[in-house]
Amino acid sequence: MHVDVKELKGHPGAQRTLSRTVDAPSGLGTVLVGIAEHSDLDLDLRVESVHEGVLLTGTASAEVTGQCGRCLDPLGYPLTVDVMQLYTWTPEGHQADGDDEETREVTAELTLELEPVLRDLLVSALPFQPVCRADCPGLCSQCGFRMEEDPGHHHEQLDPRWAALASLADTLNHDDEDDDASS
Ligand SMILES: [Zn+2]
Ligand SMILES: [Zn+2]
Repeated sequence: MHVDVKELKGHPGAQRTLSRTVDAPSGLGTVLVGIAEHSDLDLDLRVESVHEGVLLTGTASAEVTGQCGRCLDPLGYPLTVDVMQLYTWTPEGHQADGDDEETREVTAELTLELEPVLRDLLVSALPFQPVCRADCPGLCSQCGFRMEEDPGHHHEQLDPRWAALASLADTLNHDDEDDDASS
């Protein structure tokens, strides 16, 4: 994903738009969600020559797919991020350092490398704890039951203090049964 900006060099104010759909690169995701490799990444960008370099603005859109962090159901939704990045002109003889996130530089070939910028924006826009919907009840923490199928599902006596009382109650109940059986 390179954008040629040769014609912008030395022409502050010159600009052009860049609308295209590209293949999403690999690794645009976290453990649970991400943008699938080779899925459509829609770019609607504008490059503008400014004194210090080239200003890249616009949006990037893609389809996020993955799994709900609560119920593990598949999920998907469209994501659009705003892009605003200044690429500074590389001083003569200076090699652009593509790994520096703070300052991007126009490459020696007078192109912009879009991928690192888009990668940062898209990955940081992914939810840390993705859910299929805000009120997803998830799975029962004890048995994995899908809570959606029965919101009343629960296990008795989660609290150990109540568990102690419950076993006492059980004992008493069994005594009652024994009494009933003998009478
Ligand atoms: Zn869910
Ligand atoms: Zn359960």
